[in-house]
Amino acid sequence: MTDCLFCKIAAGEIPSDTVYENDKILVFKDIYPKADVHLLIIPKQHYTDLPDIQEKDPDMMNYMMKMIPDIAKDQGLDTGFRTIINTGRGGGQEVFHIHIHLMAGPRLPGFK
Ligand code: AMP
Ligand code: ZN
Repeated sequence: MTDCLFCKIAAGEIPSDTVYENDKILVFKDIYPKADVHLLIIPKQHYTDLPDIQEKDPDMMNYMMKMIPDIAKDQGLDTGFRTIINTGRGGGQEVFHIHIHLMAGPRLPGFK
């Protein structure tokens, strides 16, 4: 997926403010934060969206979900956090490489 922004970030071709990385996933700061803490969790491998990853590699999706509490703890998010996955244009997805938004702080967007 040479044309994918988050593939390029995962490959280090476009810089990001990385907070955590291993061989499977990358966690970096959203460039336009919508909360005091706004991180994006992506698989290094390209999947378009939630249906795509669930069809091709559900274990990877499960792995990312499993990592979130540890990432939140590492970031000192002791009082909690919000996770969002936008799926498809109708769901507000703008970057078509699956990502989980991890947000925290007093001003959380959406939902309520
Ligand atoms: P979504 O609307 O769920 O597809 O979210 C895409 C997110 O990617 C938005 O919150 C953007 O602010 C964020 N974003 C776009 N470009 C970059 C970038 N180069 N580095 C970090 N975050 C980005
Ligand atoms: Zn990609």
